Amino acid sequence: MKRSLSILISIAVLLIFIAPLFAQHPAFTHQDTLRGSITPEREWWDLTYYHLDIKVDPVEKMISGTNEITYRVLKPDTMMQVDLQPPMTMIRVDQNGRELSFRRDGNAWFIRLEKAQDIGALNTLLIEYAGKPKVSRRPPWDGGITWQKDSNGIDFIASTCEGEGASLWWPCKDHPADEPDSMLISVNVPGNLIDVSNGRLRRVDDLPDGSHAFHWFVSNPINHYGVNINIGDYVHFSDVYQGEKGPLDCDYWVLRDNLEKAKVHFKEAHRMLEAFEHWFGPYPFYEDSYKLVEAPYLGMEHQSSVTYGNGYQNGYLGRDLSRTGWGLKFDFIIVHESGHEWFANSISNNDAAEMWIHEAFIAYSENLFLDYFYGKKASADYVIGTRALIRNDRPIAGIRGVNYSGSGDMYYKGSNMLHTLRQIIGDDEKWRAILRGLNKTFYHQTVSGDQIESYIIEKSGLDLAPFFNQFVRDVRIPVLEYIIQDSTLRYRWNNCVRGFNMPIAVALDGKTVLLKPTMRWKELALDKPVSRLVPDRNYYAATFNLTGE
Ligand SMILES: [Zn+2]
Repeated sequence: MKRSLSILISIAVLLIFIAPLFAQHPAFTHQDTLRGSITPEREWWDLTYYHLDIKVDPVEKMISGTNEITYRVLKPDTMMQVDLQPPMTMIRVDQNGRELSFRRDGNAWFIRLEKAQDIGALNTLLIEYAGKPKVSRRPPWDGGITWQKDSNGIDFIASTCEGEGASLWWPCKDHPADEPDSMLISVNVPGNLIDVSNGRLRRVDDLPDGSHAFHWFVSNPINHYGVNINIGDYVHFSDVYQGEKGPLDCDYWVLRDNLEKAKVHFKEAHRMLEAFEHWFGPYPFYEDSYKLVEAPYLGMEHQSSVTYGNGYQNGYLGRDLSRTGWGLKFDFIIVHESGHEWFANSISNNDAAEMWIHEAFIAYSENLFLDYFYGKKASADYVIGTRALIRNDRPIAGIRGVNYSGSGDMYYKGSNMLHTLRQIIGDDEKWRAILRGLNKTFYHQTVSGDQIESYIIEKSGLDLAPFFNQFVRDVRIPVLEYIIQDSTLRYRWNNCVRGFNMPIAVALDGKTVLLKPTMRWKELALDKPVSRLVPDRNYYAATFNLTGE
């Protein structure tokens, strides 16, 4: 009895110590693997085209229709995974006029193909589906459909599905690694409403029952969560931006009552395009145009159809996230969500774990925007101001294969990491060439964090592997420890990953010195006794005076 009690106590003590190791992330399920990994039933086929053709019924809060999926066979196989989340349900699947059998495993549907799938062949499948999709309670943070009324009592409807996935409302290959090369989105709505989706409006059909079908065509690869419907009593205006690749059509769709406000406020879009074409290169979807579409929620980076609900005011719902004043110099949603056209829509993560690529670069784009119009000090003040939002709770990289992204720190720890990197590179033109080079090299691709890191390492010529390990995959803030004794400065990095060697500029009694610390103590002999070390505020790191002064 006694013996087993002591074993129990030991186990309990052990659990107390190891529990935090397991508390880092939730337990993953079979469904997480089906959703987040490239399963054998996904691996053998490459998406080329979707035609999503749906009817949206605001009275029943129902979506029904078909998705035609065209794909290229990479390996012969006959079992295909397509995702569709309950309560949406597949009704019928056809290939070459033959009805196919399928079974459901949670959110994944496995379709047994009958036709031979020859390598290289381009095949098509038609899925009929219907249901009352999940209603979003807190869009865009919570995925689903938002069924609202505008101030005139007219339906105002939108989809949001980042994170939870497009399969919330339509059947698709819901993994970020694969995107269709193009897509047609056909949306049938009651006669008093307009649907605005991605890409360009090809045509509108007037149907005998008084409803309209809007056909939107996207001629570029599109990520799944970027596909969207926005349905309401929209009015439209447009202009043309003369950009790096020539004239860019800009279209604005807003609720009827907001037209005059929008015509003034949406001039911000041209400022955004000017700043981001400078830093990142040409807008990545000239063929599909640029659109700002009013939505019944804050906003989202829907590709070539950026949704907007920031109330026609500057800041983030009128607030400055940095608390420096600079955040009120621009409309956060127009700048941030449109910035995602470069990082998120053109350069897309190939696994949810790498979502930091989208958010780090685009949180950083906020201060590049400020840098372009208000100068370096404004941009530095802003990004440093946002440090108060960093929690250092989990790494900004998530876990691959289970649809699990990293900490919300991917925004402002991410932007501070990139701001720090700009200091390390120490050459703004080189830094801009790297940002533009990323957009050229990975144009319209899905990528891993490794590819982005390797590119920056190669182009900068710097040993940045420990730097990325520290800021992407660790939660600690590196600490520069130092001791000043008369004319000698001793310093090293601590609280950091193995091999951490980030250079850092410091002022010694006002004189700037670039230190190259490692984890071993280094010594610097100074010309005269020094009393004070002040780190350059642009580096995201802490300092600790070991003499305690
Ligand atoms: Zn974002």
